[in-house]
Amino acid sequence: MDFQYSTRTQELMQRLIAFQEREVDPREEPYQRELLTRSNPWVVLPVIEELKDKAKAEGLWNLFLPDERYGAGLSNVEYGPLAERMGRSQITPEICNCNAPDTGNMEVLVQFGSPEQRDEWLTPLLDGSIRSAFCMTEPDVASSDATNMQATAVLDGDEVVINGRKWWSTGIGHPNCKVLIFMGLTDPKADRYHQHSMVLVPIDTPGVKVERMLETMGFLDAPGGHGEVTFTGVRLPATAIIGGPGQAFEIAQARLGPGRVHHCMRLIGLAELALELACRRASERVAFGRPLAKLGGNRERIADARIAIDQARLLVLHAAWLIDNKSPEMYGAISQIKVAVPNMAQRVVDMAMQLHGGAGLSNDFPLAAAWTAARALRLADGPDEVHRGVIAKLELERSRKALRSWRSGPGR
Ligand SMILES: Cc1cc2nc3c(=O)[nH]c(=O)nc-3n(C[C@H](O)[C@H](O)[C@H](O)COP(=O)(O)OP(=O)(O)OC[C@H]3O[C@@H](n4cnc5c(N)ncnc54)[C@H](O)[C@@H]3O)c2cc1C
Repeated sequence: MDFQYSTRTQELMQRLIAFQEREVDPREEPYQRELLTRSNPWVVLPVIEELKDKAKAEGLWNLFLPDERYGAGLSNVEYGPLAERMGRSQITPEICNCNAPDTGNMEVLVQFGSPEQRDEWLTPLLDGSIRSAFCMTEPDVASSDATNMQATAVLDGDEVVINGRKWWSTGIGHPNCKVLIFMGLTDPKADRYHQHSMVLVPIDTPGVKVERMLETMGFLDAPGGHGEVTFTGVRLPATAIIGGPGQAFEIAQARLGPGRVHHCMRLIGLAELALELACRRASERVAFGRPLAKLGGNRERIADARIAIDQARLLVLHAAWLIDNKSPEMYGAISQIKVAVPNMAQRVVDMAMQLHGGAGLSNDFPLAAAWTAARALRLADGPDEVHRGVIAKLELERSRKALRSWRSGPGR
């Protein structure tokens, strides 16, 4: 077992850290402040495009894509640490074209898109000139069970007709969001996992309407945000269906595996930042005549945070390794990280907020936004309970198999 990062990861990491320190860090705080003062925050400020050009020129672009024809050609294990580093910042993922949901949507197009779909949508997404959203969740049904989706994508001759209401469509508020991946019911008579299709919907198609932008615990997450959107009699050529009718579940599975590793590694980066801020605050601020670090159980809290972050990182990199090696064990591992990491990050950030006192809950520090991001990821990509259900199911199956083989063993 070799815990050292690959030479490519080490080389890219050096470049990424230098880029973040030189270009991103000095601009991030003023950027966030300016966005907060805007009455219309659904804008791309020039600094973002400027930084995107620089990241592209430095080869820090599309690092998430394992397919060398389109991206950096890194394995999930190699990309994970870079995602962690990007996760310290709210803007670096977009600046390096490694932000959700575009990453997942690009992966879908690489794996399942037709040559025409790739030309039309993948090329500009890879170039960073447009952005996208993923529309699965619906306000009217429990969407943690994806077989519940009621919105429809019905074939009518050589067209597909779309109707329904979606919400929590991340990224839909971005001025450059041009295409949506919509999941809808095509054939209610097919088996449970072949009823739904995924369709590429240009956002300006007649019948598509963004009804409102939602707040996540008070944060708009502009300029991408999360929207509620209606689809009323939206007509598209049937060639807009990805993969083919009824393929939505197969595509969703493929989309979510690496995406969960990316999310989790970015959250680990955020937890690292929170711990760093906590240590700084605890060392510099004095109460009752002593630095906060020497009061109460604060040293233990800091130690526990370090242990929790390092444990989580090992779990995620192991899941990434299982994905890279196409091991059947990856399914349980992906569910495990999806439960473990957001809960860990939420606890670590909460500890850092507490050490900051009132300041920790203000927007003067990135902690309130970090806590919200961790909390949201206990729901986005499926609630904790659903993932625990998968882990328990696999564990019980394993136990049943072991019992069966013991019972059929020699002498019994
Ligand atoms: C910030 C954010 C961004 C998001 N981005 C997107 C996006 O880009 N695209 C998109 O389509 N969706 C997105 N979502 C939606 C997210 O994926 C759903 O909210 C999630 O899948 C849960 O669906 P639901 O809200 O309908 O909850 P429900 O399905 O109604 O579930 C509610 C609760 O029921 C309980 N529950 C459900 N199933 C079980 C179970 N098996 N065992 C025990 N308890 C259970 C859990 O406590 C669960 O939280 C986002 C959500 C957030 C908060």
